[in-house]
Amino acid sequence: MEKRGLLYEGKAKQLFETTEPDVLWVTYKNQATAGNGAKKETIAGKGQLNNQITSLIFEKLKDKGIPSHFIKQLSDTDQAIKKVSMFDLEVVVRNVAAGSFSKRLGVEEGSDLPFPVLEFYLKNDDLNDPLITDEHVLVLGLASADEIRDLKEKTRQINDALINLFRKINIRLVDFKLEFGKTSAGAIVLADEISPDTCRLWDLNTNNRLDKDVFRKDLGDIIPLYQEVLDRLTQL
Ligand code: ADP
Ligand code: UDP
Repeated sequence: MEKRGLLYEGKAKQLFETTEPDVLWVTYKNQATAGNGAKKETIAGKGQLNNQITSLIFEKLKDKGIPSHFIKQLSDTDQAIKKVSMFDLEVVVRNVAAGSFSKRLGVEEGSDLPFPVLEFYLKNDDLNDPLITDEHVLVLGLASADEIRDLKEKTRQINDALINLFRKINIRLVDFKLEFGKTSAGAIVLADEISPDTCRLWDLNTNNRLDKDVFRKDLGDIIPLYQEVLDRLTQL
């Protein structure tokens, strides 16, 4: 397989076509953004850490019977992935109150939630990715009722697997964002990435943040923290 032309350049990754029609080449960039791109910095080493962390997590999920778009890691910063037709949705799961949930609903950050809360956001930078209801998903034609059910079921299954995975490495999975796509055969699969950019990960003993909140809130250098997450995952 060979790399072909650039298909899409986003905030964190570049997607390239390949010589195989159903396969894309993704390169993880060193760019960090927050607030829908309002804060933007180049951070050396971030791309390779997120690529390695995502690759490891997708492999672990596969071992648990959860398929994704991931085919294989190609290099420190690159992966081969299945090309899918993306749902214009971000699916967020919250196990612990934090971020926009705490702010919007006045719930203290760090409060355990009685059950995992699942939310849909419209993937649209111009609209700042607004929170939407199931009926909005239907009325906007973003997914059918059956697909919503499937997305929710898969998301809950992934949450269970990820909570267990992170608990083993002494990390509390506070919340995270998933994206899904449809393969050419019509199957819904997990896509995009799972990394400290897309999850809130707190050390179980110290509550220290091991994720992008450190960048969002200007609390320090994220690289040693992302490296810590990778090192712990590698030990599994
Ligand atoms: P953004 O678009 O938010 O700036 P990225 O820089 O991470 O984010 O861009 C990656 C893009 O690739 C996202 O729009 C994501 O929805 C899309 N994507 C992720 N996985 C796949 C896939 N398997 N096939 C096609 N597109 C994908
Ligand atoms: N998240 C993400 N991409 C987004 C929005 C959120 O990966 O565009 C992740 C974020 O890292 C956190 C979870 O989804 O783990 C919930 O984020 P929240 O709604 O609290 O948004 P924030 O205030 O962090 O933007």
